[in-house]
Amino acid sequence: MPAKSVVNKCIWCLEAPSSTTFNSESHVLPECLGNEYQQVLPKGIVCDKCNNYFGTKLEPKLIDEPILDTIVGILELRDIDSQFTYNRSPSGIRRQVHMTTVISANKFTLTTQYEIDGQPDHLKETRIITRSKDYDKKALAWLSRAVHKIAFETVAHNEFVGTGIQYKNKTLGCLDVFHHRFNIIRDWVRYGKPQNMVRPVLRIQRFDEVERKEQFVQWGGWTHHFRHGIYCKLNLFNDWYFINLTSSPDAVESDLVSWVQKQKVHNPVWMVGNKLQRSHMHC
Ligand SMILES: [Zn+2]
Repeated sequence: MPAKSVVNKCIWCLEAPSSTTFNSESHVLPECLGNEYQQVLPKGIVCDKCNNYFGTKLEPKLIDEPILDTIVGILELRDIDSQFTYNRSPSGIRRQVHMTTVISANKFTLTTQYEIDGQPDHLKETRIITRSKDYDKKALAWLSRAVHKIAFETVAHNEFVGTGIQYKNKTLGCLDVFHHRFNIIRDWVRYGKPQNMVRPVLRIQRFDEVERKEQFVQWGGWTHHFRHGIYCKLNLFNDWYFINLTSSPDAVESDLVSWVQKQKVHNPVWMVGNKLQRSHMHC
């Protein structure tokens, strides 16, 4: 049983059918990343204006992410330049992936060593595929807004499609997604406000998992309560994001770091905020 019934009020702009329309479903994880059927919000939760804005302005920015773009290529979900294409063979193909990242100033470079064994025409092939991106403040803001959008819609999905928020086998009851404490997220994701700072997100790459289980498609989102805040952990194909949905701009970064330290993660942590940097936190 879903936790709540749909009320025909947009979780983003808070408008109702008297001032907007609700003719579309909303994909929590964008369709452009290969999601067709999973985690879809039914009509009546995201209005057409907001849905159209996200689909045309916000979500395409995720395709620009070197890491996501590379992983969805390896997983054969989306590989526009055919850089990860290979010739299948009846005797089977073995692929190995090794990814390394370099950040210098605002430039992020991902180098992927992609080895394919057993193609019919040549037995062993190694490709080096490099993707880089300059993260100026604008690019960081788009990325932050795009992942906050997925995070907040994950909360809405738990509420309207799932069974509410579960924590250690207990149901914590329903969150009210229309509560004013989420206005901070509505303003940031839908309108890019406040403009003077990029709402931080912690990002952790679990490339080891991609390298080991390269065929293993996995993404999902989990809502957490920590102290008095609501947090979300997102896994976008082993590119993990940790998101704070409730703290005020002056507290968001320290609250986020405190929560992530509780998660006992062992991989490098990047802070996406006003700049792109390796976080100094010790996990
Ligand atoms: Zn709306």
